[in-house]
Amino acid sequence: MESSGGNNSNSTPKIMVFRPTWEEFQNFPKFIKYIESQGAHKAGLAKVIPPPEWKPRRNGYDDIDITIPAPISQMVNGCQGLYTQYNIQKKPLTVKEFEKLANSDKYRTPKHFDYEELERKYWKNITFGAPIYGADISGSIYDEDQNEWNINRLGTILDYVAGDYGIHIEGVNTAYLYFGMWKTTFAWHTEDMDLYSINYLHFGAPKSWYAVPPEHGKRLERLAQGFFPGSFQACPAFLRHKMTLISPHILKQYSIPVNKITQEAGEFMITFPYGYHSGYNHGFNCAESTNFATERWIEYGKRCLQCICRKDGVKISMDCFIKRFQPDRYPLWKAGEDIGPHPEDRYKKNIRSGLDDFRINEPEKQNR
Ligand SMILES: [Zn+2]
Repeated sequence: MESSGGNNSNSTPKIMVFRPTWEEFQNFPKFIKYIESQGAHKAGLAKVIPPPEWKPRRNGYDDIDITIPAPISQMVNGCQGLYTQYNIQKKPLTVKEFEKLANSDKYRTPKHFDYEELERKYWKNITFGAPIYGADISGSIYDEDQNEWNINRLGTILDYVAGDYGIHIEGVNTAYLYFGMWKTTFAWHTEDMDLYSINYLHFGAPKSWYAVPPEHGKRLERLAQGFFPGSFQACPAFLRHKMTLISPHILKQYSIPVNKITQEAGEFMITFPYGYHSGYNHGFNCAESTNFATERWIEYGKRCLQCICRKDGVKISMDCFIKRFQPDRYPLWKAGEDIGPHPEDRYKKNIRSGLDDFRINEPEKQNR
């Protein structure tokens, strides 16, 4: 297995790229363990290029017959690298209709020489014209008998949530589809419960990503809180609303490390616990994603910051994980007394700010 990027201990972690062989591709949880042994999680985002013989769908993508039930028009307000995104729901569209719209004069990708020029055009035009995104559609276009890296059944410990209680949380332990067009955007966020995510770009134009290393996530939160004090006052976890756009230029100005990478069709991206990410689509495309977990995630899940202002927020009970993986701590946790630092705060005593870094998600509040 090779990787590019590299990870020197004294510099900002870089996004690593992996090209597993067919053999290495068989066991998903084992592969995640392997890439973390190589430090892939430190950048918060990694790319995995599947072996060339692997295909999620034998018969290709010509016969896709899906309706996008709630396309959203993405309105963006703001200036100089700081923006808020508002979603306006539109009437349903078939994927064929969406493709036609995406390729129309009004919505299509502008002419560009390379990805850098397209990125400049993205930030220059972000508030002009609202693109339409077919996001968060429950479903999968994998062949059901695809046994390698099937987003519907990755076989990670997140399955215990469903196993214990039969809970299905759409898009978290089930698959979601995304139909993009030029300039459609995903705002800065970590996953629900700070889980991992996997994203496969089935076909179409590339998807560009920005990522902040998890060890610098708290700094991104503090910067965002300063820029959007009203939002922070209303909800301590307002980035979970997925409405906040901050350009990489602004992040660099404030010394927050940010990496960039562009995902091409046929490639996977993995996001890691507490890895803030955002990005945009280059044109018409289709991606599928879901969340997953490892034992390393459990402490992140226990200490994650929760949205307090919305009732549709995803909250997973940590009960089944603590019972299984931290049985000695279970009584303490159940009593609401398993207090401790966030995993990314461990060696940063000097920048701790009181209660901020000693969080606890009380057990009785997280039943779902
Ligand atoms: Zn909220």
